Amino acid sequence: MQTQILGLVTPLMALFFAATFAVLWRMGRLKRHVLGFGIAYVLSAIGFLITHFLPADAFYLFHTTQIFYSLASTVMLASVCERAGQRLHLWSFVFVYVVTALVLAIAVSLTDDVAPRLIIVNMGYGVMFAMGVTTLLTARRRDIIDIAIIAVMVFQAADFFVRPTLTLLFEQTIPAAVYRDSIYYSLIGLVLGVKGVTNAMVLIGASIAEWIRTLRESSERDPLTGLRNRGAFEQAMRSLLPRAQTEARPLTLVIADIDLFKQVNDIWGHQAGDKVLAGFGELIERMIRGCDVAGRIGGEEFCIAVWNCENEPAERLAERIRQAFARLEHCGLNDDIRLTASFGVATARDGETYMQLFARADQALYRAKSSGRDRVENAETRRLEETPPKPNPMLIDNSLNVDRRSA
Ligand code: GH3
Ligand code: MG
Ligand code: MG
Repeated sequence: MQTQILGLVTPLMALFFAATFAVLWRMGRLKRHVLGFGIAYVLSAIGFLITHFLPADAFYLFHTTQIFYSLASTVMLASVCERAGQRLHLWSFVFVYVVTALVLAIAVSLTDDVAPRLIIVNMGYGVMFAMGVTTLLTARRRDIIDIAIIAVMVFQAADFFVRPTLTLLFEQTIPAAVYRDSIYYSLIGLVLGVKGVTNAMVLIGASIAEWIRTLRESSERDPLTGLRNRGAFEQAMRSLLPRAQTEARPLTLVIADIDLFKQVNDIWGHQAGDKVLAGFGELIERMIRGCDVAGRIGGEEFCIAVWNCENEPAERLAERIRQAFARLEHCGLNDDIRLTASFGVATARDGETYMQLFARADQALYRAKSSGRDRVENAETRRLEETPPKPNPMLIDNSLNVDRRSA
C-alpha cells in the first residue's frame, strides 16, 4: 500500500508542474515553448503511471514506457532549444528511438532479466539529452538562466548514463517479476522526483523571467510604432549621455516632426494618420543602426539618439530619413500624396543634461518649421544662407477638403 501511494507522488507532481506551465503560458501569453514544457511533463506523468500500474513482468512494459519517456524527452529538449532560438534535429531523435526500441525487443526476447532493458532504454534517453545539450550549446545568447538550463540538461544526460550502470553494479540481475521490489525501483522514484523538481524549478524561473521581460518591454514600447515611448527614450538618454562622456564618444540627438500632420487627420481621418505614424516609425527603425536609440516622444514627434556619431554624419542621417519619408507612399491616403517632416539636430556638449540637449535640438527643429518645413536644421551650424520657405504642394494648399477622404 505504501509503495502504491509513493509511486503516485511522482506522476502527480509532474501533472502539477504541467498545469503550472499551462497557466504561465496562458496568463503571460508566453511563447509556445512554455506550453511545450507542460506537454513534456504530461507525457512523463503518463510514463510514470504506466511504470507504476502495468504488470512488472509484462513483456510490453518497457516498450510502452519508452514511447512516452522518449516523447517527453523530445518535447522537453525541442522546447528548451526553441527557447534558445535553436532547432532540434528531430530525425536524429526518431533514429535513436527506433534503434533503442529494436535492441530492447531483442533483449526482451532473449532474457527475463530487467537489467539489460534498463540499461538499453536509459542509454537511449541519455543519448537524446546529450544531443539536446549539443544543440543548446550552439545558441549564441547565454545569460545566467540559459546556463542553469544547460546545467540541468547535462545533469539529466549524466543521470541516464550513470544511474543504471551504478545501481546494477550492486544488483547484477533483476528478474522481471520482482522488479518493483528492487533497489533500482526504489531509487528511481527518488531520482525522478528530484530531477523533475529541479528541472521544473529552473524552467518555471525561466518562464517567469520571460513574462517579466515581456511586461517590461511592452510598458516601454509605443504600441503604434513599436519604438520606445517617451519615458523609455528619456531613460535611455539618461544612461547614454553619461556613458558618452565617460567613453569620450560623440552622441547626437535628432528630433523629427511630421509636417502639417493635423491636416492628415482632418482630411483622411485618424486611422489613416495612425498608419502614417506607424510607417514613419518603421522607416526610422530601418534606417538607424542597432546601437542607435529611437523613440516616439509625442503625437507626431520622434527622437533618435545617434550613438558614437559626430554632428555631420548624424545630420546626413537625418537628411536621408527626410528624403526617404518624402518618397514614402501611405496607405489610406491618395496615391499621389506624399508627406514631409522637419528635423532638428544637436550634438551633446561636455556636461550637458538631456533637457539642455533636447532644448537645443528642439530650437533647431523650430527653425526648420519656421523656415518652411521639410528640412533639417542643425543646432551646431547656423546656415549662412537661409533657404527660402518651400510651399508644401500636398498639404499647405488650402483647397484641400474632406472630399479627399472618399478618393
Ligand atoms: P507642424 O508642421 O507645425 O508640426 O504642424 P502639425 O499639424 O503637424 O502640428 P500640430 O501640433 O498642430 O498637430 C499635431 C497633430 O498630431 C494633432 C493631433 O491630432 C495629431 N496626433 C497626435 N497624436 C496622434 C496619434 O496618435 N494619432 C493620430 N492619428 N494623430 C495624432
Ligand atoms: Mg507636426
Ligand atoms: Mg508636433
